[in-house]
Amino acid sequence: MIYTNHKLDLKNLTKLKKFKKNKRIPHAFLFHGSEGVGKEFAAIEFAALINCESPVEDLSCRTCHSCLKLLSNNHDLVNYVFPLPKGKKVNNNDGIEKSMSENVATEFRINLDKKIKNPYHEIKLKNANTILIDSIRSIKKTIFRTTENNSYRIVLIFEAEKLCFPNNEAANSLLKLLEEPPKKSIFILVTSKADLLIDTVKSRCLDIYFPKPSPEIFNFYCETLSNDSINLYRFFDGNIKLLKKIEKNSLSDIEKFYLKFKKFILSESDKIDLEMLYYLIDIFKSKSNLSQLIILAMKCFFKDAISSIYIAEYEPIFSFFDKQIAKKINSLESNFLDKIIEFEKDYILNVNLELAIINLLQGLKK
Ligand SMILES: [Zn+2]
Repeated sequence: MIYTNHKLDLKNLTKLKKFKKNKRIPHAFLFHGSEGVGKEFAAIEFAALINCESPVEDLSCRTCHSCLKLLSNNHDLVNYVFPLPKGKKVNNNDGIEKSMSENVATEFRINLDKKIKNPYHEIKLKNANTILIDSIRSIKKTIFRTTENNSYRIVLIFEAEKLCFPNNEAANSLLKLLEEPPKKSIFILVTSKADLLIDTVKSRCLDIYFPKPSPEIFNFYCETLSNDSINLYRFFDGNIKLLKKIEKNSLSDIEKFYLKFKKFILSESDKIDLEMLYYLIDIFKSKSNLSQLIILAMKCFFKDAISSIYIAEYEPIFSFFDKQIAKKINSLESNFLDKIIEFEKDYILNVNLELAIINLLQGLKK
């Protein structure tokens, strides 16, 4: 395996291995499933396996010529495509190499180097919201060249839904390749938002769904984060990428938030809780990972409350949960989850933050 200090559910990989064994590999795959469950991890492992010269127990060997090139991000047959910032205007026959500025090219390399060390590294370049048509043009320049020794050209497309943002330009350009796929080429599209990808592209790919990792695999990544008051597997909903991003003290920050939030919900006052307001503004202004965790904590707070009403033997996500919360939530006629999701949208879209938080706090207590 390429990633030796990591754990991956091998079920999908086993399915994929059969294609290699039978020497009939489909030319396009769609790896989809929720965020942080190891799709990009599996895509890179599969890419390594396809061209591996001496697989070990049907996994890539890490030592052959092809594996070593992949590990040093220097594989002439493996292309990575992901969102990039808009580049210089170039001739239609030129590709991304010419349109990329020097800074972006450096960032591109740095991100790939991180990715090949950590399969959960999130590739994020400044101002990169879309997969550029120039990236697909670059692929077109090389994909028709023949390969040696029965090897394949592999194109890995991460955040593939961004092929369709802000328009379908890149997706349509890729579609032409998928409709008449070059010999010995394999496209692996990876996305957590498959519904945003156009159907014509999806229908050309073999669908591979990635479920949440098992608690055993998830807990492998929790080792240094032991915590008795939060069920981490359910809190993170199996999202290993998010789990790996959090810092050690984040869990105690979530606990602190939970207790403050509980006090706020249980209080009888209808006035805006200023302490809560400033506390949240502070967190969300810093745009840290903690913001994402606080939103999750609010969702879990209500999930615990609602589920404990309807499920007799319900095991709460937070050990701080008590029946008093469920009683209070039941008495308030608010659709809490909708309110939080609305706030989440406002936050992502950079709507006036103070106003969004006031709306949220008022909405929850109505
Ligand atoms: Zn190998």
